Amino acid sequence: MGVDLGATKVVSAWVGRDGTVDGHSGARIYRSEGYHELISEIVRCVRASQAACRRPLAAVGVGIAAQVDSSAGRVLYAPNLKWKNRPLAADLARRLACPVYLINDARAATLGEWRHGAGRGSDNWLCLMVGTGVGSSAVVGGVLLEGASNSFGEVGHLTLVSGGRPCHCPHRGCIEAYIGGWAIGERARREVTLPNGRDSRIRVLAGTPGRITARTVFEAYRQKDPLAIRLVQSVEQYFADAIVGLVNGFNPERLVLGGGIIEGLPHLLPILRQAIRTHCQPSESKVHVVRARLGADTVLIGAGTYALERHRGRSVRGPAARPG
Ligand SMILES: [Zn+2]
Repeated sequence: MGVDLGATKVVSAWVGRDGTVDGHSGARIYRSEGYHELISEIVRCVRASQAACRRPLAAVGVGIAAQVDSSAGRVLYAPNLKWKNRPLAADLARRLACPVYLINDARAATLGEWRHGAGRGSDNWLCLMVGTGVGSSAVVGGVLLEGASNSFGEVGHLTLVSGGRPCHCPHRGCIEAYIGGWAIGERARREVTLPNGRDSRIRVLAGTPGRITARTVFEAYRQKDPLAIRLVQSVEQYFADAIVGLVNGFNPERLVLGGGIIEGLPHLLPILRQAIRTHCQPSESKVHVVRARLGADTVLIGAGTYALERHRGRSVRGPAARPG
């Protein structure tokens, strides 16, 4: 069973060895809910999925937007849920009477895409999920690298603009502060209060400035609103600059892009391909830029796959044992 525990909802489903899913169940969650209330919500979801797909529960994998110690089954820090150092795997395992494994959501997405989606067959690739925030992981030499504290390849907080816009992390000018959905929404909310933006479609579509999100900006962009066009062009430029640096730094053969920003702005991919061709060093410019394939289920499928592989004692670090 895979569980996707996000900032505003939890979704569960049975995940097969071939990446198929069955018995989706979901619920909205709220920051005001306590830790134990949320555990009860996850248990309810898993039980509902189990009843819907009528299969025995072998193991559960939870993909969560948090810093995670996967081997100890602890959530170290989940800013959205305001959790610090919680033994989530043990607490859930007690309630569900089966093994529970935790994995960071970006790593889950990468594992899911690696086994069953756009990363299949590649030993050197970078997975970037650009939604509200920027989640990413890197597969290098056939290994999903972990780093010293399980966050290797998290590029959203690399500096793009020195001393730039404030980020949700302690730093300024991070990639996420320019291309993350929260940052696009925040900038639009500010711009519609300025003389140039007061008549923008963005404001009309949202009703009030406080309800503007990246999605509102993209809708206004499709309606050819001048402010929305300016904001999207700025995202294109920052995204292209970030991608050129990442391709130069990681030297991937494939770059897999997914998440709400990629879905909302499908014309971004050709722009990024062109930026790579024009600005990357020649040996690195051959990278294939492709869309993630697993859609909204990517974290769920990755978390279920992670549980399956941990449960069977397989190392999730590499695709297969290699001779020599
Ligand atoms: Zn940051």
